[in-house]
Amino acid sequence: MFRLPVCPHCGTIYRYKDTKKAIRDKDNICYHCNKKFRAKIFPGILIGAVIPLILCIVINIILLSSMKEAQIIPLFAVTLVFLLIIYLIIPFFTKFRKTEDDKK
Ligand SMILES: [Zn+2]
Repeated sequence: MFRLPVCPHCGTIYRYKDTKKAIRDKDNICYHCNKKFRAKIFPGILIGAVIPLILCIVINIILLSSMKEAQIIPLFAVTLVFLLIIYLIIPFFTKFRKTEDDKK
């Protein structure tokens, strides 16, 4: 957990930015060994996302109870920040797998 993915063929460690790109592209070719791999987000992301999500709900409740009248914008901003955190940690929950046609 909390490690950036590596190429399944040659073990090259991918940088954060490259990982994001690999998730978007789905089918990728390693820049180091030129072999194909596929980016997969593994279910551990759910555990990683639950903690910020609970924090987000708690902060929203605290905000809501401290406000004289309910205001949507601060609540929305807090939620947005937490969604951003979840989005930012996705590359740390990604694994690169060899594609099917490599097994032949
Ligand atoms: Zn490689």
